[in-house]
Amino acid sequence: MLTDQDRIFTNLYGMHDRTLSSACARGHWDGTARIIANGRDWIIDEMKKSGLRGRGGAGFPTGLKWSFMPKESDGRPHYLVINADESEPGTCKDREIMRHDPHTLIEGALIAGFAMGAHASYIYIRGEFIREREALQVAIDEAYDAGLLGRNAAGSGWDFDLYLHHGAGAYICGEETALLESLEGKKGMPRMKPPFPAMAGLYGCPTTVNNVESIAVVPTVLRRGGDWFASFGRPNNAGTKLFAISGHVNTPCVVEESMSIGLRELLDRHCGGVRGGWDNLKAVIPGGSSVPLLPADVCDEAIMDFDWLREQQSGLGTAAVIVMDQSTDVIKAIWRLAKFYKHESCGQCTPCREGTGWMMRVMERLVKGEAEIEEIDMLFDVSKQVEGHTICALGDAAAWPIQGLIRHFRDEIEDRIKATKAGRVSAVAAE
Ligand code: NAD
Ligand code: SF4
Repeated sequence: MLTDQDRIFTNLYGMHDRTLSSACARGHWDGTARIIANGRDWIIDEMKKSGLRGRGGAGFPTGLKWSFMPKESDGRPHYLVINADESEPGTCKDREIMRHDPHTLIEGALIAGFAMGAHASYIYIRGEFIREREALQVAIDEAYDAGLLGRNAAGSGWDFDLYLHHGAGAYICGEETALLESLEGKKGMPRMKPPFPAMAGLYGCPTTVNNVESIAVVPTVLRRGGDWFASFGRPNNAGTKLFAISGHVNTPCVVEESMSIGLRELLDRHCGGVRGGWDNLKAVIPGGSSVPLLPADVCDEAIMDFDWLREQQSGLGTAAVIVMDQSTDVIKAIWRLAKFYKHESCGQCTPCREGTGWMMRVMERLVKGEAEIEEIDMLFDVSKQVEGHTICALGDAAAWPIQGLIRHFRDEIEDRIKATKAGRVSAVAAE
C-alpha cells in the first residue's frame, strides 16, 4: 500500500497547480544537472535496477529498451519520442499527468533524451487532448524561458529541444511505428518490426518511443534511487503505477498505487467499492479494452500486475480498470469493443481488416441471440486466426476480449441464443 510520501504524481490530488514554481516547490527540477552528470551508463543502469516496465501497456523493460540505442554515433541524430496518444478505451492516466504535472514529464524527457544521446524529442499527443496540449505547451515555454530546455538545458551541458506534435484522432497512431509514420507526415500505418525503432525509427534514425508515464517517473526514480522504486510490487512487477478506474464503482478515479495491489483493495480504498457492493460485481476488464475481462470469482483474488494477470489469460495493459456490475450486458459490452476495433483497423493486413469485421458481425448476432450455438466455437477459432498473424498488436487486441468473453461467459451467450430461439425473450437490439 502506498503512502502519500511515496506518490510521484502528488499534483493529481487536489493541488492542481502546474506552474514551474509549484513544480520546483514539490522537488521537480532539483539537481537535474547532477543526475545528468552521472552519465548515460549510470542512468540506464539505475533504470534497469528500478525494474520499471513500460507503462504504455506492453510492459517491456524500460532500461533495457534504452540500452538498445547505439552508444556510438554514426552521424545519424538520435530521437526520443514520447507517446501521448492515449486512446485505449478506459485509459486516462497520461491525460492526468499532462494536465496536472507537465514539468515531471518535461524533466523526464531531458534526462531520458540525454541517456539515449538525443538532442531532440517529440511528444506526440492525442488530437482530442486540447486542454492537455495547451497545458503542456505553457510548461514547455516556461521551461525554455527558465533555461531548462534548449542550449545547455538546466545547466547540464546538454542541448535539448522538445516539440509538441498533435495527432488527428486515429487510434492506430498510438502504435509506435504508426506514430512515427504520422510524425513524418505520412499516413499512420504500422511498420513491420524488426527493425525496432532503436535501429531505424524516426526518419530512419535511432529512436526510442516511450509512454508518458514511463518518462514522467524517471526524475523521481533517479532522485530516490532504482532500489526505492523496485521496493514496490512483486518481483518483475516493480514500482508505483497509475490506475484509471471507471464503470460501476461509487467514485471513479485515477490513482497512483503500488504495483501488485489487490484489485478488491484498490476499488475499496479509492473508489468506495463496487456499486451495490462486491457481490454485485459481474466482471472487470483490468487493463484497458485490449485485454480479456475477468469474471467476478477471479476478481476476488486478483493481483494487479503484469505477471499475475497474464497467468489468468488477461493482462495489466494500460491499467485502465473497467468495472461491470450485474446490470451489465457483457455480450453487448464486448460487441461494442469489437465495433471499435473494426473501425480503427488501418486495413493494411488481411486477418485484421477482414477478421475485425467478421468478428464484429458475429458478435452483433450473439448480442441479439440470433446466432447458432456452433458459431461460438467458430468465432473463437477465427479470433485465433487473427491473433498473432498481423503486423501490429491491434489484431490481438481485437481478438482477446472476444476470447475472454467466450471463455468466461459462454453460458450466458448460449442461454441468450436458446431463449431467443424459444421466443422467450425479445431480441436485444444492437445499437
Ligand atoms: P510490443 O510488445 O510489440 O512492444 C513494446 C515495446 O517494446 C515497443 O517499444 C517495442 O519497440 C519494444 N520491443 C519489443 N520487443 C523488442 C525487441 N525484441 N527488441 C527491441 N525492442 C522491443 O507492444 P506494442 O505493440 O508496442 O504495445 C501493445 C500494447 O499497447 C498493448 O498491450 C496495449 O495494452 C497497449 N495499448 C496502449 C494504448 C494506450 O492508449 N496507452 C493504446 C492501445 C494499446
Ligand atoms: Fe493495420 Fe490491423 Fe494490420 Fe495493425 S493489425 S497493421 S491495424 S490492419
